[in-house]
Amino acid sequence: MQFEVTILGCGAATPTLRHAPTAQAINWHGKWILLDCGEGVQTNIRKYKIPLQKIELICISHLHGDHVFGLPGLLGSMNLFGRERPLRIVGPVALKDYVFQALNLTETHIRFPIEYTDCADSKGIPVIAWGDNAVRSFPVKHRIEAYGFTFSHHPTTHTIRKESIVSHHLLRSEILSLKAGNELSRATGEVLRITDHCEPLKPSISYSYSGDTRPCDSVLVASQEADVLYHEATFLHDMSSIAKSTGHSTAQEAAKLGREANVQLLILGHLSSRYRDEGRVLKEAECFHPNVRLAKEGMRIRLIPGEKPSVSYLE
Ligand SMILES: [Zn+2]
Repeated sequence: MQFEVTILGCGAATPTLRHAPTAQAINWHGKWILLDCGEGVQTNIRKYKIPLQKIELICISHLHGDHVFGLPGLLGSMNLFGRERPLRIVGPVALKDYVFQALNLTETHIRFPIEYTDCADSKGIPVIAWGDNAVRSFPVKHRIEAYGFTFSHHPTTHTIRKESIVSHHLLRSEILSLKAGNELSRATGEVLRITDHCEPLKPSISYSYSGDTRPCDSVLVASQEADVLYHEATFLHDMSSIAKSTGHSTAQEAAKLGREANVQLLILGHLSSRYRDEGRVLKEAECFHPNVRLAKEGMRIRLIPGEKPSVSYLE
């Protein structure tokens, strides 16, 4: 199981020479997902060699421009380069109208099928799931309708020990039951226990993305014990009242939430150009969480089940 996130943009509000607006690419064992789509996203898609046409899912947290201005152009390029395979876009309900209007008014005719999923409909059910993997959205607290996302790999099927099959003459029905995690009693009174006959479940991984938000319970719940939480930190705490009125978080608030959720690694993003010395953002957060990093374009976060998350930087 391979799960890699490449940060394509982690700046707030507008593109700057230091940061592109928010966008991330996820390579989930060969399945490519884009998370938010800030202006100019295509430049870093090229720079970091993200396979454009392999992207099959785009998750959009909310409709503020710094998270969606790159989307119509991206769809146009996919079309221009001959895309035929379908694309799924997940986000707030108004997203479909935004994309439709932008493409329609610019006479950008898309030939490949686009399927929309409204996050408001998901209510805890994964917006997409396959095998042991699931993408879930959760509502967050911003100025407009906004969502965060979790990406989790959570094995639930047990592997039966080969020696048990032979020594206990396990029947097919008994094997299926144990695999599904159900213990059972035989007519002889013997109890077939998971711990006796199955290997331990393989470890899980989870990546949580806050989008733009005030610190809130839904992020806390969705990020419990996550390997990595990417949380916005638009302000330092001396501007906490502005963070509050604009629906954002301070570095201190993000770090406190990350600690409460017991996440292994906290990555701070949505960095404001207000802070020429971004080290101040990191420093403030480090007082409240033991393992914090600042996001950076080209940062690659790798999750492997049973291992600590690792970070590297692409050129
Ligand atoms: Zn926003």
